[in-house]
Amino acid sequence: MGKFDRFCQSCGMPMDQDKGHGGTEKDGTKSTVYCSLCYQEGAFRDNFTKSKQMVKFVRQILKNQGMGYFKRWFFTSHISHLARWQ
Ligand SMILES: [Zn+2]
Repeated sequence: MGKFDRFCQSCGMPMDQDKGHGGTEKDGTKSTVYCSLCYQEGAFRDNFTKSKQMVKFVRQILKNQGMGYFKRWFFTSHISHLARWQ
């Protein structure tokens, strides 16, 4: 098991915090790799091509949730290492 297996491999959210319990494939089966916010029916819900875009997107969400600058940085620092962005 890799270091990042328990995180969504697109946005970096811990999979156990995904209220939708994982994204879905085209056939309706659950994805163990991507969260429900990123991935539905076999497709990404955003059209990002670079991890930088996802970092910016997630940081804005965290900011809206009232998270401080350092925590925002910390929680998004691993996004560029996730499988989707390799
Ligand atoms: Zn995600």
